[in-house]
Amino acid sequence: MIKGIPVSEGYAIGKVLKLEDFSMDSSKKTIKDIDQEIKKFDEAIEKTKEQLSSLYTLAEKKFGVETARIFEAHLLIAEDPEIKGAVHQKIKNESVNLSYALKTVVTGFVDLFEALDDEYLKERATDLMDVFKRILKNALDIEIVDLASINHKVILLAHELTPSETAQIDPNYVLGFATETGGKTSHSAIIARLLGVPALVGAKDIMHTYENGQEIIIDGILGEIIDDFDDEVKALYTKKEKAFDHANKALEKMKGVASQTLDGYHITLAGNIGSSKDLNHIMDYDADGIGLYRTEFLYLDHQTFPTEDEQFNDYKSVLEKMNPKPVVIRTLDIGGDKNLPYLKMVNEMNPFLGKRAIRLSLDEKELFKTQLRALIRASAFGNLKIMFPMIATLSEFLEAKEIVESIQKELDAKHIKYNDFELGIMIEIPSAALMADSLAKHVDFFSIGTNDLIQYTMAADRMNESVGYLYQPFHPAILKLIKMVTDAAKKHHIWTSVCGEMGGDLNAGPILIGLGVTELSMTPTQILKMRRMISTHKYSDLQQIALNVLELESEEQVLFELKKSIHI
Ligand code: PEP
Ligand code: MG
Repeated sequence: MIKGIPVSEGYAIGKVLKLEDFSMDSSKKTIKDIDQEIKKFDEAIEKTKEQLSSLYTLAEKKFGVETARIFEAHLLIAEDPEIKGAVHQKIKNESVNLSYALKTVVTGFVDLFEALDDEYLKERATDLMDVFKRILKNALDIEIVDLASINHKVILLAHELTPSETAQIDPNYVLGFATETGGKTSHSAIIARLLGVPALVGAKDIMHTYENGQEIIIDGILGEIIDDFDDEVKALYTKKEKAFDHANKALEKMKGVASQTLDGYHITLAGNIGSSKDLNHIMDYDADGIGLYRTEFLYLDHQTFPTEDEQFNDYKSVLEKMNPKPVVIRTLDIGGDKNLPYLKMVNEMNPFLGKRAIRLSLDEKELFKTQLRALIRASAFGNLKIMFPMIATLSEFLEAKEIVESIQKELDAKHIKYNDFELGIMIEIPSAALMADSLAKHVDFFSIGTNDLIQYTMAADRMNESVGYLYQPFHPAILKLIKMVTDAAKKHHIWTSVCGEMGGDLNAGPILIGLGVTELSMTPTQILKMRRMISTHKYSDLQQIALNVLELESEEQVLFELKKSIHI
């Protein structure tokens, strides 16, 4: 058995498919049979071309033309006669192995592209490396796993999954997944919850321990991978899986019911989405609105910047479908663990403390304005609230607001209609929480991003398991900051949401309400459970409990107190 951090609930029983990291040996070797080496190379190219063509068709069907284009570009590279000719020459002239010849030729082109001052060609260097690895894997007969082409039921194991890889997962085939790296609030974990796929992260050594095809069980509740089991254990887990599905179905009763406490205090239970495709989850779980639309995935899904109209159509469709329910759309939060391959960013020592989110938007004004224009135009179609991520100072907000107003003037001049909309900020940096009283005078709402607020308050990287013990949502330091924010909001008559993962934690929900939070926004699958949880408590009790725990000295003490009073 291997332990990991459970990040998405549920059980999965299935066969392992490993997404291998590829470290290749391209050292120079002298070969005797030149013809044989050239033949091997040509066959690898043919195989690569076939794979890329079928990937194109598949990606087009599943994810649309935009994603499919990657494979079209790769196909062109694989067919390039110049590369092929140069590799032939090298093998012939120097009697060297194909891996060495191919690597030398490709690296030559890559260096050439990278030295150019043309962003488009620079980007081609990345594609070239990708295709090079694919050809080499084919030549060496290494199995290639393409996430988009998984068409049988598997449990996916990987050292690491990037957010864009995770976004390609089809829950019909990927029954569950586990990675060796990552934390509870890494973006891959968030997507796993959104897809409803049981998942573990931080599961050490899984890539060495398990073989492709081996049957394993993922326990997404306890955070375990069970590998050595008999029929009895398997039957037990099949039963657990059914019971889990059954419990989920029992929640149906909470649909259409008001989100309120026993004594009738209303709060908003909203859903978080990463794409307009997630709207069906919002509907399925009867959300009171959307409390966080993370727009960065719209950018990550594209090969170049999405145009204003592409964005407008996406936002419009979400707003229309949700109308009159509120939709909070967050402007681009790129940086940290999310990078846009087509946006050249300088390498930073500490990306989470670097040019992320609003810092990047205020620096890349055209990018920011395009998004804001699309958002403001889309406001005509529903109940929009625009939110800025990672605000550290009032002046950042004021600068962003000024840009919003300049766009409104621009649209007025062109007689383009838009509706009134609220402007709010995420509170995820301690400076913003500490200055909430001042910020509240200027903004329409606060949304507390606990994922980041915890990491920045405790100085513990949300992605780093070795400091995971410091990632303490219930630490009085965090609760006190939240209280400062809700007090300021109340004083200035604005509303406060929590849209970090804490907002969907059934143990945290009641205490957050007691602290004065008026909206919780979460992974849609949590909404009905939270509604049921809240309906069993009195608001007045929750307020009292919140006051009590604020006096405590450690997370441990807070949890002990909550266990007594909230039955967690
Ligand atoms: C947060 O930090 O809590 C948050 C909601 O933003 P993200 O997880 O996208 O950084
Ligand atoms: Mg954040």
